[in-house]
Amino acid sequence: MEQENLILISQKCSSCGASLDIESSLTKIKCMYCGSTFQVIRPLKVSSSANSSLSEENKQKYINIAKILEKSMLANNFQEAYDYCNKLLEMDTDNADVWIDKAICAYWLSSDNKIIFSQAKEITTYLNTARQINQDSEKLKEISIAIAENLFVLSRYYLYKIQKTESTKYETFCSGYLRTDLTNILEHIKLWDTAYQIHPNVVFLKRAVEELTPVLKAKVNWEQRILDETNVFPVKALKEAYIQKIKKAEPLYIPPKKPSWFAYLINYVSSSNG
Ligand SMILES: [Zn+2]
Repeated sequence: MEQENLILISQKCSSCGASLDIESSLTKIKCMYCGSTFQVIRPLKVSSSANSSLSEENKQKYINIAKILEKSMLANNFQEAYDYCNKLLEMDTDNADVWIDKAICAYWLSSDNKIIFSQAKEITTYLNTARQINQDSEKLKEISIAIAENLFVLSRYYLYKIQKTESTKYETFCSGYLRTDLTNILEHIKLWDTAYQIHPNVVFLKRAVEELTPVLKAKVNWEQRILDETNVFPVKALKEAYIQKIKKAEPLYIPPKKPSWFAYLINYVSSSNG
């Protein structure tokens, strides 16, 4: 039971929130305000997929709710749409397309920076549920790719907006970033791993490894960390875990050559001891 997509005429920019017009054939869209490029996410039409085992009365109710759900999604009203998804899932938990639409709602509700982390886990759960119901769904594959790519673009957009906090010397410990800034930066990098779970594109993890390696374009110069904060951020462990994951997909992968901040630190410790 493969469903069709709804015909979208506009989609919000996940980064800056601008409303963008969508031509019917486009799969990608570039925001003319902030320059981000996103995949177009077309919600699934669910009103024609009512379970045949529902009673006649419930079936009609199901179709009505599904139609309101579709209207809400087309109007970019994702909180309302999310609630309608739940109503439909109460009546029939086995409609994979409703789980996909719920994941899309969770994606849009996540574009607020503050809830992006919890919501990203939700998205993964809903898509996995849809996968358990219908493993071969082409639509599921298509939407997983779009959500994963967008999550990656969106978290990078927020990551590079994190500024050094102007503060006294004593509160900052890594090139002028506060502990909270660094936690925030690391959380955004972890989202690329979540994007990888949704759709295994190794580019996401390769970018994470680069960010965790002190190369020029890294957001934070991890090697300048002061000594007593070394156990706060599991940078080395994360980096190693991502490298292992990449190597499973690409056995010949060679991580960036620069020494990690951890290697620097060990040098520092041995030179200050001797
Ligand atoms: Zn934008």
